[in-house]
Amino acid sequence: MESSVRELACEARLNLQRLPDYMDSITDRLQSFEADASHDGQRIDFRFAFGGASFDMERLVMRANAADRDGLARIKDLLATAVQVYARDENPEIVWTGDLSSETSLAQFREMTVTDVRDLTAHMRRIRFAGEDLSRFAKFGGMHIRMLFPTKDVPDPLWPVLGASGLPVWPADDRRPVARVYTIRSLDVTKGIIDVDFLVHPGESVGSTWVMQATPGMRLGIMGPVGRPVRQAGWYVMGADETGLPALARMLETLPAATKGVAFVEIADEGEKQAIDNATGIELHWLTRDGVPAGEDNRLANAVRSVTWPQGGSGFGWFAAEAAAAKVVREYWRGTLSLGRDETLAAAYWRRGAAGLMAG
Ligand SMILES: Cc1cc2nc3c(=O)[nH]c(=O)nc-3n(C[C@H](O)[C@H](O)[C@H](O)COP(=O)(O)OP(=O)(O)OC[C@H]3O[C@@H](n4cnc5c(N)ncnc54)[C@H](O)[C@@H]3O)c2cc1C
Repeated sequence: MESSVRELACEARLNLQRLPDYMDSITDRLQSFEADASHDGQRIDFRFAFGGASFDMERLVMRANAADRDGLARIKDLLATAVQVYARDENPEIVWTGDLSSETSLAQFREMTVTDVRDLTAHMRRIRFAGEDLSRFAKFGGMHIRMLFPTKDVPDPLWPVLGASGLPVWPADDRRPVARVYTIRSLDVTKGIIDVDFLVHPGESVGSTWVMQATPGMRLGIMGPVGRPVRQAGWYVMGADETGLPALARMLETLPAATKGVAFVEIADEGEKQAIDNATGIELHWLTRDGVPAGEDNRLANAVRSVTWPQGGSGFGWFAAEAAAAKVVREYWRGTLSLGRDETLAAAYWRRGAAGLMAG
């Protein structure tokens, strides 16, 4: 008899009065994670590279299927997050039934141990972490992780587990670690290591404070990967300050050699320049603040706005820096140049005076 590998599948009922009203936003969000959407009567089907999903408006149910547990966990997480975001007025209760629904270990979580600490520059510190089975962090096109830090108040945190909704559940509020978002600068799945480049910045903080004290043997948690895949394009305009530099450098090292474009990186001073093994034809320019505090200088946004885009729609704009600069660039690309959401990503990586942006 022929043996065939059975797909994993599960579903969750959606007791929502206004499900059809949310579907445009849910579809938009899932498409930004590279899902293809198709309509079939009262059902919308989504196809990801790693599995499928559907929303049935008549039966009020959502379904997920995938070939493996990582894929199924990812789709459950994407669907549950979309429903929680767009249907939050109806306070949705999501309970998955079917394959793996009794699991409590969180597929996207790993405990990691520091194995090496190295200063790249006076303000950029590279930390190497070792952990088990990191293959999922090379999947799904997400470059970032939520790092879960022990703090002075919670030195011995309890790590999250998987809830019935497919989303993380925190065992005890008073033992909850503090989350911050960082980029996987590089990843070696075979050796079980990831490198993260941390900017050591002034002010009271969680991530930066932890990094200043980091020594081999220290532990923290990571969840991910998070973030949308960056669109493939033949030409890019890129802009980043020190917080976006790890992602920009990773892209320059991994995009195809034929890729063209221009990239600007804002740093405090000449001493913050670092070697990047640029494998592409993208021209890299460093902009120094020379005494102007981070988040107060507008030359990065100005440089990115001065670039002429190629005719013909094969370009992509990528920007990651302080929130005010990201807003200026987003408004220019989307408003002034009328570029689409699928052609640009201008993200706030931190906000002056605000702690923990985007980590929730
Ligand atoms: C998708 C994504 C990827 C990111 N990747 C990286 C990365 O690889 N490396 C990295 O270093 N950062 C990265 N960041 C930025 C990082 O998450 C923030 O800088 C975060 O605020 C750092 O947390 P913290 O605990 O050190 O400071 P917080 O506790 O969040 O903030 C404390 C104070 O420090 C200020 N502050 C925060 N960041 C800066 C800064 N860059 N310069 C000056 N003041 C600051 C805040 O405004 C606040 O006043 C990324 C952010 C996102 C959204």
